[in-house]
Amino acid sequence: MVEPVVVVHGGAWAVPEELWDESLQGVKAAARRGYGASIHCYCGVLTAGGSSVDAAEASVVCLEDNPVFDAGTGSVLTFDEQVEMDAIIIDGTTMEAGAVGAIRNVLNPVKVARLVMEKTDHIMLVGDGANKFAAAHGVQEVDPEVLITSLARQTLAKYKKYTSTVYHLFNKTEKPETSGHETVGCVVVDREGHTSCATSTGGITAKMPGRVGDTPIVGAGGFADDQVGAVSTTGHGEAIMKACLARHITSVMGTGESVKSSIQNGLAHMESRIKGFGGAIAVSCKGEVGTHFSTPRMTWAYIQAGKLHYGIHPNQHVTEDL
Ligand code: ASP
Repeated sequence: MVEPVVVVHGGAWAVPEELWDESLQGVKAAARRGYGASIHCYCGVLTAGGSSVDAAEASVVCLEDNPVFDAGTGSVLTFDEQVEMDAIIIDGTTMEAGAVGAIRNVLNPVKVARLVMEKTDHIMLVGDGANKFAAAHGVQEVDPEVLITSLARQTLAKYKKYTSTVYHLFNKTEKPETSGHETVGCVVVDREGHTSCATSTGGITAKMPGRVGDTPIVGAGGFADDQVGAVSTTGHGEAIMKACLARHITSVMGTGESVKSSIQNGLAHMESRIKGFGGAIAVSCKGEVGTHFSTPRMTWAYIQAGKLHYGIHPNQHVTEDL
């Protein structure tokens, strides 16, 4: 038997002070949501559902519905002011995966990713195909405006103003860090050692229409295999894809390294080899938890053995009784 755990993150980036409290409240609430589902699973309270995958989906839905995060409602905007979202979910027991890329006008991309996993022979659907598939499976389309927050509009406007003045005037090679990266994710192991991961994002501000990042890519935005554990990543998608970050971390975990040092190894490799920054959460199939980030901050929370753990700053680890 394993001590079950639900771990969530709310994105690795600078996280300005005005968002600290809301982001922490958001990840704590999401950990509670998923853990409820996971408890039902191993107590057998629910007759249907309540698996590790249910718990991961429930936590990520909670984060997608919270406008402080860059996923679902609150997603950042493309250069042409649209919301295009990516999501993945993986069942570590079967290693089945489902993902969507550049999907529009749905509240919860992670639910569509799960439908792709369970109802198709494919792993990823993108763009119009993903939207048509979602509609065919009863997922309600929402007005795009419902997903857009004033923060997302302001962030895009700031980015465009900056790029049309300083960036072009001085021909800078570095793009400005005006965008939030509050991608969300969850990893779970239940009492039987079944693992899962889910990750969801609106991507990065001012991305090109049609750009799909790391989040829906198996081995980049997430990975789960009951023989080792599960990982969800966040950060600069183009770097994470090149590093295959989630797979790199589970490979190191598979050598017997601790979960935390496996994440540190993956992030150090991504930084030294590709100059990429980010963060990850992971859990081993034995219930060992790790969180780490190479950005200034990342919100994370987990629940295990009656305790809620959380943090946002480097080396911060707060523990509370549930
Ligand atoms: N990885 C996401 C992307 O590049 C962004 C993030 O994690 O903040 O789409």
